[in-house]
Amino acid sequence: MKLNIEGLLVYFPYDYIYPEQYSYMLELKRTLDAKGHGVLEMPSGTGKTISLLSLIVAYQRAYPLEVTKLIYCSRTVPEIEKVVEELRKLMEYYSKEAGEKNNFLALALSSRKNLCVHPEVSSLRFGKEVDGKCHSLTASYIRAQRHSNPSLPSCRFYEEFDALGRQVPLPAGVYNLDDLKDFGRRKGWCPYYLARYSIVHANIIVYSYHYLLDPKIADLVSKELAKKSVVVFDEAHNIDNVCIDSMSVNITRRTLDRSQANVETLQSTILKIKETDAAKLKEEYRRLEDQLGLSLLTLEQLQSEEMLQKIAQIAHQV
Ligand code: SF4
Repeated sequence: MKLNIEGLLVYFPYDYIYPEQYSYMLELKRTLDAKGHGVLEMPSGTGKTISLLSLIVAYQRAYPLEVTKLIYCSRTVPEIEKVVEELRKLMEYYSKEAGEKNNFLALALSSRKNLCVHPEVSSLRFGKEVDGKCHSLTASYIRAQRHSNPSLPSCRFYEEFDALGRQVPLPAGVYNLDDLKDFGRRKGWCPYYLARYSIVHANIIVYSYHYLLDPKIADLVSKELAKKSVVVFDEAHNIDNVCIDSMSVNITRRTLDRSQANVETLQSTILKIKETDAAKLKEEYRRLEDQLGLSLLTLEQLQSEEMLQKIAQIAHQV
Protein backbone atom coordinates (compact mmCIF):
# COMPACT_ATOMS: atom_id res chain seq x y z
CA MET A 1 0.00 0.00 0.00
CA LYS A 2 1.26 3.50 -0.81
CA LEU A 3 0.18 6.40 1.37
CA ASN A 4 0.37 10.11 1.09
CA ILE A 5 1.21 11.51 4.50
CA GLU A 6 1.05 15.28 4.18
CA GLY A 7 2.85 15.15 0.84
CA LEU A 8 5.27 12.35 1.76
CA LEU A 9 5.04 9.13 -0.26
CA VAL A 10 5.10 6.26 2.22
CA TYR A 11 5.39 2.58 1.25
CA PHE A 12 3.55 0.36 3.69
CA PRO A 13 4.04 -3.40 3.16
CA TYR A 14 0.55 -4.53 4.25
CA ASP A 15 -2.84 -4.49 2.53
CA TYR A 16 -4.64 -2.97 5.45
CA ILE A 17 -3.79 -0.09 7.79
CA TYR A 18 -5.46 0.77 11.11
CA PRO A 19 -6.59 4.37 11.45
CA GLU A 20 -4.35 4.54 14.56
CA GLN A 21 -1.34 3.62 12.44
CA TYR A 22 -2.15 6.39 10.01
CA SER A 23 -2.46 9.05 12.72
CA TYR A 24 0.71 7.70 14.35
CA MET A 25 2.59 8.25 11.09
CA LEU A 26 1.07 11.69 10.71
CA GLU A 27 2.32 12.78 14.14
CA LEU A 28 5.70 11.26 13.44
CA LYS A 29 5.99 13.15 10.17
CA ARG A 30 5.14 16.40 11.96
CA THR A 31 7.76 15.67 14.62
CA LEU A 32 10.41 15.09 11.96
CA ASP A 33 9.39 18.23 10.07
CA ALA A 34 9.73 20.22 13.27
CA LYS A 35 13.11 18.53 14.01
CA GLY A 36 11.81 18.01 17.50
CA HIS A 37 11.23 15.23 19.98
CA GLY A 38 8.08 13.20 20.15
CA VAL A 39 6.49 10.79 22.57
CA LEU A 40 4.06 8.48 20.82
CA GLU A 41 1.96 5.85 22.48
CA MET A 42 0.20 2.92 20.87
CA PRO A 43 -1.06 -0.34 22.36
CA SER A 44 1.17 -3.34 21.70
CA GLY A 45 0.19 -5.51 18.75
CA THR A 46 -1.22 -2.63 16.71
CA GLY A 47 1.64 -2.42 14.22
CA LYS A 48 3.67 0.33 15.83
CA THR A 49 7.07 -0.92 14.58
CA ILE A 50 6.12 -1.12 10.90
CA SER A 51 4.38 2.30 11.08
CA LEU A 52 7.55 3.83 12.49
CA LEU A 53 9.84 2.14 9.98
CA SER A 54 7.64 2.91 6.96
CA LEU A 55 7.40 6.58 7.81
CA ILE A 56 11.04 7.13 8.76
CA VAL A 57 12.45 5.19 5.79
CA ALA A 58 10.18 7.21 3.46
CA TYR A 59 11.46 10.38 5.12
CA GLN A 60 15.09 9.26 4.76
CA ARG A 61 14.55 8.58 1.06
CA ALA A 62 12.83 11.92 0.53
CA TYR A 63 15.35 14.00 2.53
CA PRO A 64 18.66 12.09 2.39
CA LEU A 65 20.71 15.10 3.46
CA GLU A 66 18.53 15.91 6.47
CA VAL A 67 18.16 12.41 7.87
CA THR A 68 21.27 10.36 7.27
CA LYS A 69 20.62 7.55 9.70
CA LEU A 70 17.90 5.84 11.67
CA ILE A 71 19.04 4.50 15.03
CA TYR A 72 16.42 2.15 16.38
CA CYS A 73 16.97 1.18 20.01
CA SER A 74 15.21 -1.82 21.37
CA ARG A 75 15.56 -3.73 24.61
CA THR A 76 16.07 -7.43 24.00
CA VAL A 77 17.58 -9.55 21.23
CA PRO A 78 14.19 -11.03 20.15
CA GLU A 79 12.80 -7.49 19.87
CA ILE A 80 15.82 -6.41 17.82
CA GLU A 81 15.35 -9.40 15.50
CA LYS A 82 11.64 -8.58 15.12
CA VAL A 83 12.44 -5.03 14.03
CA VAL A 84 14.96 -6.31 11.48
CA GLU A 85 12.37 -8.72 10.05
CA GLU A 86 9.83 -5.90 9.63
CA LEU A 87 12.54 -3.86 7.95
CA ARG A 88 13.33 -6.71 5.59
CA LYS A 89 9.66 -6.93 4.65
CA LEU A 90 9.57 -3.19 3.99
CA MET A 91 12.72 -3.25 1.84
CA GLU A 92 11.42 -6.18 -0.19
CA TYR A 93 8.22 -4.27 -0.75
CA TYR A 94 10.19 -1.26 -1.96
CA SER A 95 12.13 -3.46 -4.41
CA LYS A 96 8.93 -5.02 -5.69
CA GLU A 97 6.84 -1.87 -5.96
CA ALA A 98 9.39 0.75 -6.88
CA GLY A 99 11.28 -1.74 -9.07
CA GLU A 100 14.57 -0.30 -7.91
CA LYS A 101 17.49 -2.05 -6.33
CA ASN A 102 17.64 -0.85 -2.78
CA ASN A 103 21.00 0.49 -1.73
CA PHE A 104 20.07 0.80 1.94
CA LEU A 105 22.31 -0.85 4.49
CA ALA A 106 20.47 -1.91 7.64
CA LEU A 107 21.93 -4.07 10.36
CA ALA A 108 21.50 -5.26 13.90
CA LEU A 109 24.26 -4.97 16.45
CA SER A 110 24.48 -7.01 19.60
CA SER A 111 27.10 -8.21 22.07
CA ARG A 112 30.04 -10.52 21.32
CA LYS A 113 28.07 -13.31 22.99
CA ASN A 114 25.49 -13.07 20.18
CA LEU A 115 27.89 -12.46 17.30
CA CYS A 116 31.11 -14.35 18.06
CA VAL A 117 32.04 -17.14 15.64
CA HIS A 118 35.27 -18.27 17.28
CA PRO A 119 34.68 -21.99 18.03
CA GLU A 120 35.90 -21.93 21.66
CA VAL A 121 35.05 -18.37 22.65
CA SER A 122 31.49 -18.54 21.31
CA SER A 123 30.80 -21.66 23.37
CA LEU A 124 31.47 -19.87 26.68
CA ARG A 125 28.35 -19.55 28.75
CA PHE A 126 28.28 -15.96 29.97
CA GLY A 127 28.62 -12.72 28.06
CA LYS A 128 31.32 -11.48 30.44
CA GLU A 129 33.42 -14.60 29.82
CA VAL A 130 33.11 -14.12 26.05
CA ASP A 131 34.09 -10.44 26.36
CA GLY A 132 37.05 -11.31 28.58
CA LYS A 133 38.34 -14.11 26.38
CA CYS A 134 37.90 -12.05 23.21
CA HIS A 135 39.77 -9.18 24.85
CA SER A 136 42.63 -11.50 25.79
CA LEU A 137 42.99 -12.44 22.11
CA THR A 138 42.48 -9.08 20.46
CA ALA A 139 43.66 -6.29 22.81
CA SER A 140 46.27 -4.08 21.16
CA TYR A 141 48.92 -4.73 23.83
CA ILE A 142 48.48 -8.50 23.41
CA ARG A 143 48.80 -8.17 19.65
CA ALA A 144 51.94 -6.07 20.13
CA GLN A 145 53.45 -8.77 22.40
CA ARG A 146 52.74 -11.32 19.68
CA HIS A 147 55.37 -9.65 17.46
CA SER A 148 58.08 -10.88 19.82
CA ASN A 149 56.25 -14.04 20.88
CA PRO A 150 54.24 -15.52 17.97
CA SER A 151 53.12 -18.46 20.12
CA LEU A 152 50.61 -16.23 21.98
CA PRO A 153 47.05 -17.21 20.99
CA SER A 154 45.04 -15.01 18.61
CA CYS A 155 41.63 -14.91 16.94
CA ARG A 156 41.97 -15.50 13.22
CA PHE A 157 38.57 -13.87 12.56
CA TYR A 158 39.74 -10.66 14.17
CA GLU A 159 43.10 -10.72 12.39
CA GLU A 160 41.42 -11.30 9.01
CA PHE A 161 38.90 -8.55 9.64
CA ASP A 162 41.64 -6.17 10.71
CA ALA A 163 43.69 -6.93 7.61
CA LEU A 164 40.88 -6.77 5.01
CA GLY A 165 37.45 -6.05 6.51
CA ARG A 166 37.77 -2.28 6.78
CA GLN A 167 38.64 -1.88 3.11
CA VAL A 168 35.39 -3.30 1.69
CA PRO A 169 32.08 -1.94 2.97
CA LEU A 170 29.35 -4.39 3.90
CA PRO A 171 27.15 -4.76 0.78
CA ALA A 172 23.73 -3.05 0.89
CA GLY A 173 20.98 -5.18 2.40
CA VAL A 174 19.26 -6.03 5.66
CA TYR A 175 21.31 -8.06 8.15
CA ASN A 176 20.06 -9.68 11.31
CA LEU A 177 22.50 -11.32 13.74
CA ASP A 178 22.52 -14.65 11.89
CA ASP A 179 23.06 -12.92 8.54
CA LEU A 180 26.07 -11.14 10.00
CA LYS A 181 27.45 -14.40 11.39
CA ASP A 182 26.96 -16.16 8.03
CA PHE A 183 28.67 -13.30 6.22
CA GLY A 184 31.51 -13.26 8.76
CA ARG A 185 32.05 -17.03 8.48
CA ARG A 186 32.07 -16.84 4.68
CA LYS A 187 34.67 -14.09 4.68
CA GLY A 188 36.58 -15.32 7.71
CA TRP A 189 35.91 -11.98 9.46
CA CYS A 190 34.68 -11.37 12.99
CA PRO A 191 30.97 -10.43 12.67
CA TYR A 192 31.01 -8.43 15.89
CA TYR A 193 33.79 -6.10 14.84
CA LEU A 194 32.43 -6.01 11.30
CA ALA A 195 29.02 -4.86 12.60
CA ARG A 196 30.59 -2.33 14.94
CA TYR A 197 32.61 -0.92 12.08
CA SER A 198 29.71 -0.94 9.60
CA ILE A 199 27.25 1.02 11.74
CA VAL A 200 29.11 4.19 10.82
CA HIS A 201 28.16 3.71 7.15
CA ALA A 202 24.75 2.09 7.67
CA ASN A 203 21.47 3.84 6.92
CA ILE A 204 19.66 1.97 9.67
CA ILE A 205 21.03 0.46 12.88
CA VAL A 206 19.01 -1.63 15.28
CA TYR A 207 20.65 -2.20 18.65
CA SER A 208 20.00 -2.16 22.35
CA TYR A 209 19.49 1.01 24.41
CA HIS A 210 22.85 0.46 26.13
CA TYR A 211 24.80 1.28 22.99
CA LEU A 212 23.46 4.79 23.15
CA LEU A 213 22.68 5.36 26.82
CA ASP A 214 25.45 3.61 28.73
CA PRO A 215 28.43 6.00 28.63
CA LYS A 216 30.93 3.13 28.97
CA ILE A 217 29.61 1.45 25.80
CA ALA A 218 28.34 4.50 23.92
CA ASP A 219 31.80 6.07 23.94
CA LEU A 220 33.22 3.01 22.24
CA VAL A 221 30.45 2.21 19.82
CA SER A 222 28.28 5.23 19.02
CA LYS A 223 30.66 8.19 19.28
CA GLU A 224 31.12 8.52 15.54
CA LEU A 225 27.45 8.32 14.60
CA ALA A 226 26.07 11.16 12.53
CA LYS A 227 24.41 14.08 14.22
CA LYS A 228 21.63 14.00 11.63
CA SER A 229 20.20 10.75 12.93
CA VAL A 230 16.65 9.98 13.90
CA VAL A 231 16.71 8.07 17.18
CA VAL A 232 13.83 5.82 18.16
CA PHE A 233 13.53 4.35 21.64
CA ASP A 234 11.08 1.52 21.35
CA GLU A 235 9.17 0.71 24.57
CA ALA A 236 10.65 3.91 25.98
CA HIS A 237 9.10 3.34 29.40
CA ASN A 238 12.16 1.13 30.02
CA ILE A 239 14.61 4.01 29.58
CA ASP A 240 14.82 5.02 33.24
CA ASN A 241 15.59 1.44 34.29
CA VAL A 242 18.24 1.14 31.60
CA CYS A 243 19.82 4.42 32.77
CA ILE A 244 19.77 3.25 36.39
CA ASP A 245 21.33 -0.07 35.33
CA SER A 246 24.06 1.65 33.31
CA MET A 247 25.14 3.86 36.18
CA SER A 248 24.86 1.20 38.89
CA VAL A 249 27.45 -1.19 40.25
CA ASN A 250 26.51 -4.36 42.09
CA ILE A 251 28.81 -5.14 44.97
CA THR A 252 28.52 -8.49 46.70
CA ARG A 253 29.65 -9.40 50.23
CA ARG A 254 32.38 -11.55 48.66
CA THR A 255 33.73 -8.60 46.64
CA LEU A 256 33.79 -6.44 49.78
CA ASP A 257 35.63 -9.13 51.81
CA ARG A 258 38.18 -9.64 49.06
CA SER A 259 38.70 -5.89 48.68
CA GLN A 260 39.31 -5.55 52.40
CA ALA A 261 41.81 -8.42 52.36
CA ASN A 262 43.59 -6.77 49.42
CA VAL A 263 43.75 -3.42 51.20
CA GLU A 264 45.26 -5.12 54.25
CA THR A 265 47.86 -6.90 52.10
CA LEU A 266 48.66 -3.60 50.42
CA GLN A 267 49.04 -1.86 53.76
CA SER A 268 51.41 -4.48 55.19
CA THR A 269 53.45 -4.50 51.95
CA ILE A 270 53.84 -0.72 52.13
CA LEU A 271 54.93 -0.95 55.78
CA LYS A 272 57.47 -3.64 54.92
CA ILE A 273 58.82 -1.58 52.03
CA LYS A 274 59.08 1.48 54.25
CA GLU A 275 61.03 -0.46 56.92
CA THR A 276 63.39 -2.03 54.38
CA ASP A 277 63.90 1.31 52.66
CA ALA A 278 64.60 3.10 55.96
CA ALA A 279 67.24 0.50 56.88
CA LYS A 280 68.79 0.75 53.42
CA LEU A 281 68.79 4.54 53.59
CA LYS A 282 70.48 4.54 57.00
CA GLU A 283 73.15 2.18 55.74
CA GLU A 284 73.69 4.35 52.64
CA TYR A 285 73.98 7.44 54.83
CA ARG A 286 76.50 5.77 57.13
CA ARG A 287 78.63 4.72 54.16
CA LEU A 288 78.45 8.22 52.72
CA GLU A 289 79.54 9.68 56.01
CA ASP A 290 82.52 7.32 56.16
CA GLN A 291 83.56 8.15 52.62
CA LEU A 292 83.19 11.90 53.15
CA GLY A 293 85.19 11.75 56.36
CA LEU A 294 87.92 9.91 54.48
CA SER A 295 88.07 12.36 51.60
CA LEU A 296 88.10 15.37 53.97
CA LEU A 297 91.04 13.86 55.74
CA THR A 298 92.76 13.30 52.42
CA LEU A 299 92.09 16.91 51.42
CA GLU A 300 93.49 18.23 54.67
CA GLN A 301 96.50 16.04 54.24
CA LEU A 302 96.99 17.31 50.71
CA GLN A 303 96.64 20.92 51.79
CA SER A 304 99.18 20.53 54.65
CA GLU A 305 101.65 18.83 52.28
CA GLU A 306 101.34 21.77 49.90
CA MET A 307 101.84 24.19 52.78
CA LEU A 308 104.94 22.36 53.90
CA GLN A 309 106.37 22.55 50.39
CA LYS A 310 105.64 26.31 50.18
CA ILE A 311 107.32 26.97 53.57
CA ALA A 312 110.31 24.95 52.46
CA GLN A 313 110.58 27.02 49.24
CA ILE A 314 110.43 30.37 51.17
CA ALA A 315 113.02 29.16 53.69
CA HIS A 316 115.28 28.15 50.83
CA GLN A 317 114.95 31.59 49.18
CA VAL A 318 115.77 33.40 52.48
S1 SF4 B 1 37.26 -11.22 17.65
FE1 SF4 B 1 35.18 -11.81 17.15
S2 SF4 B 1 35.28 -13.95 16.57
FE2 SF4 B 1 37.18 -13.45 17.64
S3 SF4 B 1 36.80 -13.97 19.76
FE3 SF4 B 1 36.28 -11.81 19.56
S4 SF4 B 1 34.10 -11.76 19.10
FE4 SF4 B 1 34.81 -13.87 18.75
